[in-house]
Amino acid sequence: MKQIFDCLIVGAGVVGASIFNKLTLVGKKCLLIDKASDVATGASKANSGLVHAGYDPVPGSLKAEMNVRGNKLMPKICKRLGVPLKKCGALVVGDDKERVENLYSRGLENGVSVEVWDRTKIEEKIPDINKQISVALYARDSYIVSPYLLTICLTEEGILNGGQVSLEEDVESITKSGDLFAVKTQKGTYLAKNIINSAGAGYNEIAKLIGAEQYPLELRRGEYFVFDKSYKLNVPCTIFPLPTKLGKGVLITPTVDGNFLVGPTSEENDGKTDTTAVGLASIKEKSKNILDTIDFRQAIRQFAGVRVISGDDFIIEKSKKVEGVINLAGICSPGLSSAPAIAEKVLKLLKIPNKEFKDRKQITPYVMFKDMSKAEQKKRLAEDKNYGEIVCKCEKITKGDLLFVLNRPLKISSVDGIKRRTNAGMGRCQSGFCFTKVIQAISDTRKIPYASVKKENRGSEVAVGTMREVNHD
Ligand SMILES: Cc1cc2nc3c(=O)[nH]c(=O)nc-3n(C[C@H](O)[C@H](O)[C@H](O)COP(=O)(O)OP(=O)(O)OC[C@H]3O[C@@H](n4cnc5c(N)ncnc54)[C@H](O)[C@@H]3O)c2cc1C
Repeated sequence: MKQIFDCLIVGAGVVGASIFNKLTLVGKKCLLIDKASDVATGASKANSGLVHAGYDPVPGSLKAEMNVRGNKLMPKICKRLGVPLKKCGALVVGDDKERVENLYSRGLENGVSVEVWDRTKIEEKIPDINKQISVALYARDSYIVSPYLLTICLTEEGILNGGQVSLEEDVESITKSGDLFAVKTQKGTYLAKNIINSAGAGYNEIAKLIGAEQYPLELRRGEYFVFDKSYKLNVPCTIFPLPTKLGKGVLITPTVDGNFLVGPTSEENDGKTDTTAVGLASIKEKSKNILDTIDFRQAIRQFAGVRVISGDDFIIEKSKKVEGVINLAGICSPGLSSAPAIAEKVLKLLKIPNKEFKDRKQITPYVMFKDMSKAEQKKRLAEDKNYGEIVCKCEKITKGDLLFVLNRPLKISSVDGIKRRTNAGMGRCQSGFCFTKVIQAISDTRKIPYASVKKENRGSEVAVGTMREVNHD
């Protein structure tokens, strides 16, 4: 007899993965599907990586409620999953005391711990701060996290505890017969009692197939610069300008991996994630209002992510049109911070008690060879010679690390998937040295031809064939 899932979740970003994780931990049979070749390839891979304290969203909004609750839940979740989370605090700087005080009142109303700082106090923390800055809001409960590692680990814990994941799924139709949905994809048909639409930018596409509510979605690209780890900016916390209607503005932040990010822009676009000369130039210009000493020659990469916005607030609701459907639309910032709280909210909407089973299986944390203790390194080397072969010189990643990642509960076969899990390719040479070695490890482990290994999604195969096979006529 065909398996019937309690919930089928469409979209494996941080929101879908959080819901999948929560539902499996309370004992529900879940299937998480995504059209991409890995989890966290949408907005969840390209953002600022901040778990916001929650001073910014309008009091009483879903954004405020989810952000503040998510911020409280995040430390425990990251600890359990072994995902690095660093409490570095956030400073919102400007020269307008009234606007800072308004933000302070909003923070208090949202139940967030906030302080107003004068120039002297700001300089103690950030000696190089722009001379024009006279006042700031400080929120100590702001964290930095790797958004994709969090998504990956949430998914893997769900798999270890009975959940199923299927990637590269193209949803062709969704029909309902009695209480059951039949979700037909190119791989087969899945039966489920509930559908959760967390497809981000693809929300309306899925809503249309279900016959559920569709919403106008505005897409806004955010571009960034990433700085080399060797570049030491004296910035121990995240620094924002005062927020505007378009968002939180161009910020400067350390990352958990030891780099710095400067960005994002906010421009309306069609969902493309390429960077632009205009966008990058505007980051350079705007960041000067915070720090005018940044050496942009130390930037090693640019990237962009796309926000999916629907009006002023998140949409998290039971569909009124189709029983058994949960709509999650317009989950823009602070969606990463809010994800654990959104999962709790979905549980409530489905009237499922929030009681996680006790004997859950724990995932092995992502610890690379370079970060192990000397004793652990010695043990690993004795067991497996692959830990003695460096494949990424910039990030000091070994072949043993690649194999560890390739043999995890979530099976991925893309170069970028390896990069998100190990950092191989994220250093100064930007994969000049490790690219071919990573492809080879994927090809050997998955037993697939070298030329069919993908950089990311279908159609991104890294090679067309071997030199001798290529016809130059
Ligand atoms: C520039 C930028 C900066 C941000 N900074 C922060 C921050 O610092 N802190 C914070 O809290 N939030 C931040 N956010 C917001 C945060 O990134 C998002 O709210 C969050 O990642 C949304 O997660 P999601 O799972 O809803 O969407 P996504 O991560 O986009 O996931 C949706 C998934 O659905 C899949 N999908 C789409 N269509 C289909 C389909 N038809 N079939 C199957 N699968 C489909 C996609 O492949 C994708 O994997 C930022 C966003 C951006 C863009």
